[in-house]
Amino acid sequence: MPTHPDTPVEELQPTLARLRAAWRARKPDRTQRGDDLARLRTALKDRLDAMAAAISADFGHRSTHESLIADGLTVLSEIDRLRGHLGRWMKPRRVGAGWRLWPARAEVRMEPVGVVGVISPWNYPVNLALIPLATAIAAGNHVYLKPSELTPRTTGLLRELLAEAFPPDRVAVAQGGSDTGAAFAALPFDHLVFTGSTAVGRKVMAAAAANLTPLTLELGGKSPAIVCADFPLEQAAARLATGKWFNGGQTCIAPDYVLVDAARRDALVEALRREARARYAGAGAAADYTRIVSPAHADRLQGYLDDAARRGLATVTLAEIDGERALAPTVVLDPPDDAPLMQEEIFGPILPVRGYATLDEAIAFVAARDRPLALYPFSRDRDSVERILDGILAGGVTVNDTLLHFGAGALPFGGIGASGMGAYHGRAGFDAMSKALPILWQRRLAASDLLKPPYARIDRLIRR
Ligand code: NAD
Repeated sequence: MPTHPDTPVEELQPTLARLRAAWRARKPDRTQRGDDLARLRTALKDRLDAMAAAISADFGHRSTHESLIADGLTVLSEIDRLRGHLGRWMKPRRVGAGWRLWPARAEVRMEPVGVVGVISPWNYPVNLALIPLATAIAAGNHVYLKPSELTPRTTGLLRELLAEAFPPDRVAVAQGGSDTGAAFAALPFDHLVFTGSTAVGRKVMAAAAANLTPLTLELGGKSPAIVCADFPLEQAAARLATGKWFNGGQTCIAPDYVLVDAARRDALVEALRREARARYAGAGAAADYTRIVSPAHADRLQGYLDDAARRGLATVTLAEIDGERALAPTVVLDPPDDAPLMQEEIFGPILPVRGYATLDEAIAFVAARDRPLALYPFSRDRDSVERILDGILAGGVTVNDTLLHFGAGALPFGGIGASGMGAYHGRAGFDAMSKALPILWQRRLAASDLLKPPYARIDRLIRR
């Protein structure tokens, strides 16, 4: 897949102007939006193998099946959901105007806002570019996309499929790193969807503030799993393993660390070891293990392990995997609060496992930190789960499993506080990228005709 040079910064503004002028000239109607989504679906479906190859080349190796699941299937089903519901979501809603305004009629229309900017990260480079893009298209907008500089071959593929699905004045792509991103975030979009780190999210919000651009911020952070004393460890280990080692741990909603009742800490680690061996120790299994995306990220992760070694923490390598930047699934036991492993989002296959004495202690530990993007309570006891949900407000929750709320039907997806603001997926995204336009239709005869001095005439109406 050919890679393209960076977009010169001076091209950004004229491209936005072109997208906006075309949108003003002809706002996409229902048929247009449906056709656009259908073409986008076909363009992606026709390239699933090329997509998996491009992502793998960008990562140094990415499991083909992980690409097909997370960047293929998930995107195709979200496009299907958008297409299936579009007519209903677009329908103007009649609402009551209140008896005082009788006989006026009131409605809310979901209007497109104009041009939506999308800034996407590298970790699911098709999913996190195309789901926001498809949602913006469903809502009747034009889109300007800036993907991550770390996945240039995937961006080449995105350019190709978007050029097939859309005319250039409906969807455009800008290419480049943080300088391009900073200039892009400063453009006067009608809405901006940013997916990436919390640190860059702060900069994006500051840039958007100058234009009062509405934002959806999909950020990161440390998403905890809490394994309660009643939950079977084998099942917890299997589900944690999927959440943590899918995509080499480079998932915004991966369980970042695990809190488990202290008496079962070591048994959980043994169960995790069995899981890792069953998944990754056999011949050819390394093909299904995704590499760390760049040398810089591999060094950052190695730094966590070096720090753990300096502190004398127990570190358990769960399965050896061959290959460059194939960082093994690793557990670090009871890292202290001030260790970088417990301070920063790990975003890799290292899993801190900490024992807790009481469930209240575990809840208080999480609640004292930034609100997480995802929360994973494991318990068959409804009261324990409810206590966790009551004590911790997270962006999203899967109970007794990991990751799955991301792709679940009608659930909105988004963070809270340091893990983001706003939400998308399905209706939530459609609403976020639309203007809910309230319209009051006055009639020939109107109660408001009475709204003039002398007000004494309507005193009774006011005081009623
Ligand atoms: P990142 O913040 O480094 O980069 C994200 C995007 O922002 C890239 O396209 C980058 O070029 C661009 N960018 C860099 N500097 C910018 C600036 N000053 N202004 C505007 N844009 C700029 O993130 P990343 O390393 O690509 O992705 C990993 C992070 O993303 C993790 O923190 C992860 O948790 C988070 N993430 C969140 C979600 C979610 O849905 N909430 C999904 C995936 C990843």
